[in-house]
Formats: sequence, structure tokens, C-alpha cells
Amino acid sequence: MNKISRRNFNKKLSTGLLGTTLISTMPLSFGMTNNEKKSLGIALVGLGSYSTYQLAPALQDTSFCHLSAIVTGSKDKEQIWKDKYNLAENCIYNYENFDTIISNDAVDIVYVVLPNSMHADFSIRAAKAGKHIICEKPMAINVSECDAIIDACKKEGVKLSVGYRMQSDPYTNEVKKYVREKTFGSVRHVSSTAAYISRRNPQQWRLNRALSGGGALMNMGVYAIQTSIYGTGYNPISISAQEFSTRPEYFKDTDETITAQMEFPSGAVADMFTSHNTSGNRMRVSCDKGWFDLEPAHSYGPISGRTSNGNTIYFPHKSQQALQMDDFAKHILLGTANVAPGEMGKRDMIIVEAIYKSIAENGKKQLLDLGSMGIVTK
Ligand code: NAD
Repeated sequence: MNKISRRNFNKKLSTGLLGTTLISTMPLSFGMTNNEKKSLGIALVGLGSYSTYQLAPALQDTSFCHLSAIVTGSKDKEQIWKDKYNLAENCIYNYENFDTIISNDAVDIVYVVLPNSMHADFSIRAAKAGKHIICEKPMAINVSECDAIIDACKKEGVKLSVGYRMQSDPYTNEVKKYVREKTFGSVRHVSSTAAYISRRNPQQWRLNRALSGGGALMNMGVYAIQTSIYGTGYNPISISAQEFSTRPEYFKDTDETITAQMEFPSGAVADMFTSHNTSGNRMRVSCDKGWFDLEPAHSYGPISGRTSNGNTIYFPHKSQQALQMDDFAKHILLGTANVAPGEMGKRDMIIVEAIYKSIAENGKKQLLDLGSMGIVTK
């Protein structure tokens, strides 16, 4: 860009100096090509299984963003990805030279897809490079790291989103509508399960607390926390939790199984179950005039749903990751809602910390004062 650097342009976009109207009527002479105007370039940081099998394929299916760069520690992957996705030579980064991405106009968004303990470092470095950020879930390994990411994004004037793909999923949004419109009456109880059996290499980072920040709760539990919140429409005002272990020889460093109970300001209650040693993927919302459920509720899909009036909930399957990345790109380009803002990731981390505290205090109820933090109404 000639008159204004991309870094400053990104900053102005998010600080509102360039409003939605200006963006949509901006002449091409402003310095962007037609393609840039319509589609934002995403750099994937970390080319593990989620980037390889979900995000990169989904980016072939998006309308408002595209894969423009990679950041990897593997020389082999550099060449494979460059060839497969037709990436320019100057769009291949490693973890050491990552910060030079500041001068790459082909990158508008940095998507951090690394082990949880690396999210804060790379998100903050991306913010300093003037790039908008999608940070995978869980947003970080504690609340103070979430604060540091949010502060860096505010300081640098860039936008931030958490990789909560379910927030862009049509089934989730249908459930939110039932809750909001009281289609089945007032919500009384939400039950959610987010669990799978971990059998892989015991050395994997997910079982290493220093890299993961925690076990099942950090990995799958955040889905059950989210489900409890959009299933009731409120943030919890209290939480009590218990931890169980059936395979201590494998789960040496991280939690295997956690249950928790929440109270909500509406009078609704929720119970959640998360585990790395049981299979389960569902939510059920019981109201005073009926019920609805999803099972699976937060897999990559297809999701499946039913209601107490005998109907099935059905939407044609679309890649949640494509919907999620397009939602964030539209937020940047068109000013639509940020459906998974940093405050949502931080709120969930406050709840995660309260769960661990309750467990450490033998299930003692922890009071929460979250207000409407992280609740997005479109
Ligand atoms: P993965 O183990 O498959 O990939 C991790 C990547 O990080 C690899 O490329 C690895 O080389 C790299 N890496 C760099 N430094 C590392 C280190 N010190 N130790 C280990 N790996 C290192 O993991 P993944 O499944 O791709 O998960 C990555 C992130 O994405 C996690 O935060 C995870 O929670 C999140 N995730 C989200 C979803 C979702 O549905 N939103 C699904 C899967 C994973």
C-alpha cells in the first residue's frame, strides 16, 4: 500500500477511523487490489493436525479470506505446503523470523494454531506486527495471559477472535434462538458432555501441563462451558467441580475427568462433564414447556438435533471452520459482529480457573461475577 501501510490500515480498520461505509465505497485507487478488498490473507501458525486436516482445507472453501502464508518449524512442511497451496516464497515463515511478517501485505490475519502455552506469545507478536488475530481455543493457559493478549490487541489496534468454531455453526445459533425466544419456555437445566478417549503417545503436548495448561478441561471442557452458557443464555454466577481419575498411569500430569455444576442468574442450573477417558458429545436443554438436544453437539459435524415436539433440527452441513474464518473476515471487512471475541475466551478461562480452584478446595462452590462478559448478541 502506498499512502498508508498495511499495519496502519489494519489499525484504522479496527479503531473505527475507517468506518464500514468508507470500506464498502472505498475506491480501488486507495491502494488495495480488488482481490484484497474482498478477501483477507490468513497466515496459519503451526501446521499440526488441526491446520492440516481442518483449517487449510476449509480455507479453500471460504469467501472472505484465503490462505496466504504459513509459519512452521519444519523445513519439509515448508515445501509441501508451498507446492500444495501455491504459496509465494516470501510467505513462508518459521518461528524465529515470524516477526518479519509485519512487512508482508499479503497477511491480514494471523491464526495461532500451536500448543496452548504458545498462544499468548504468538498472538502478542502478531498484534505487534499489526495483524488481526484468531487464537485457537483455549485462548491461553491462564487469565493473565488472556489479559495480555487482549491488551496487546487494544494497544496495537487490531481485532481478536478465539477459534470457537461452534459460534459460527447454524445448529448452535438455532439453539441460541430457542433460548432467546423461549421457544420451549424458560430454560431450567442444561446438561453437556464433551469428551473423548485419549490413547495416543503419552508424550503428546496435550498431556504435558507446561504446554497444555491442563487436561480434558482445557481441551474439551471449554466446549461444555460454552454449551452451558449458550444453553441458558447467561454467564454462571457460581460453580462447583470434582475431578476423577481411572487411568492415573497415563494421565500423570493433567486432569482426566471433571464434572461441574453451575448456577445462573435466571435460576437455571447446568451440569457439565469433560474427560480424556470417555466418549461423549452432547447437550440437552430442558425448559418449562419442552426440551431440545444436540448429539453430536460440538464435533466437526454433521451435527444432529431433536426437539420435544418431535421435530429434528436440520441444516445442510458446511465446514464450521470456513464459516468461522469468514465470520471473522466479515467482522473486519464489513463491521459485522465478532462472534467469538477475546473477552469470550478470557471469560471461559476465568471459569476454568474457578473449576480448578473448586477442585483444589474439595468441591467448594466458587462465586463468579462475570456480568455479560463475552456474551455476543447479534
Ligand atoms: P498438533 O499437535 O497436531 O499440532 C501442534 C503444532 O504445533 C505442530 O505443528 C507442532 O510442530 C507445533 N509445535 C511448535 N512447538 C511445539 C512444541 N513445543 N510442542 C509441540 N508442538 C509444537 O495440535 P493441534 O491438534 O493442531 O492443536 C493445535 C491448537 O489448536 C491447540 O491449541 C488446540 O486446542 C487447537 N485445536 C482446536 C480445535 C477446534 O476444533 N477449534 C481442534 C483441534 C485443535
